[in-house]
Amino acid sequence: MDVSSLSILGPSLPAGDSSLDPFKCAGCGHTQSRPLFRVGPAKAYGVVVCRSCGLAHLQPKPKGRWDGYQSADTESYAAAVQSLRSGFDHHHRLLLKKLSSLVPPPGQLLEMGCSGGDFLVAAKEAGYQVCGVEPAKLGDHRTDRENIHILNESVEQVSLPLGKFDLAVAIQVIEHMHDPKILCEKMAQSLKTGGVIYIETPNFGALARRCRSPRFMNLNVAPGHWHLFESRSLMGLLRRVGIEPVLSWTFFKSLSAYGRGPLRPAAVAMLNSLLGGWGLANTLAVIGRKVEKI
Ligand SMILES: [Zn+2]
Repeated sequence: MDVSSLSILGPSLPAGDSSLDPFKCAGCGHTQSRPLFRVGPAKAYGVVVCRSCGLAHLQPKPKGRWDGYQSADTESYAAAVQSLRSGFDHHHRLLLKKLSSLVPPPGQLLEMGCSGGDFLVAAKEAGYQVCGVEPAKLGDHRTDRENIHILNESVEQVSLPLGKFDLAVAIQVIEHMHDPKILCEKMAQSLKTGGVIYIETPNFGALARRCRSPRFMNLNVAPGHWHLFESRSLMGLLRRVGIEPVLSWTFFKSLSAYGRGPLRPAAVAMLNSLLGGWGLANTLAVIGRKVEKI
């Protein structure tokens, strides 16, 4: 069943809307797009999808400086992370179990957009040598106490060693990028040949997006998330930078479901088994391997 063509609500953004940027796909360079709908405050942003690879773009892009990493409000972000600690820890354990089956520790692990460094701390505890890139100047984060090296630069500007890392991870980062290809290129270049990449992002193919669930739309299809992927578009972009996808899946990253008894995790597991296998869950993940020297 090809779920990519399913949409419960039809397009509501007219073709040729003059408020939108001229289209050139940030994933594949194609110049033909399909308009979908408007989102954001005063419906000021249009969502258009590349007719070739399926990558969704929010337009127009910001002209001046934009806090694309949502780094201005780090205090409230840190408080939210703390309140959802059990959920983050649960997902970090799951991810490390999956990654260690492909690249067992010890090995060199890089995280792009590592925020407060919670995943890096968990990866270090699992036996990896870790390093992160994070442009936001965060306050009292755990990486200081764990003596973990963080490069305090943007993804676009950071200079990374070539061919050094066994694993490169980006969790909920690629959707923020003005140019998602730069993130993928830098991750690919930093990997050894045979190294493993993991990218996680909101799933534009999710059932909640197709139904335009207000909660999903407000959290995910909103200014700041300039590019929204589904499995096909993300795997296509990775192939263009020398990464061969080996696994793609969708899941519900319900951070509030854990540490409060067994019922809510059981409900999430049921939803994952019902919708995740169809590519319809809210979060998309792709794992790939670097197949050639870049
Ligand atoms: Zn495209």
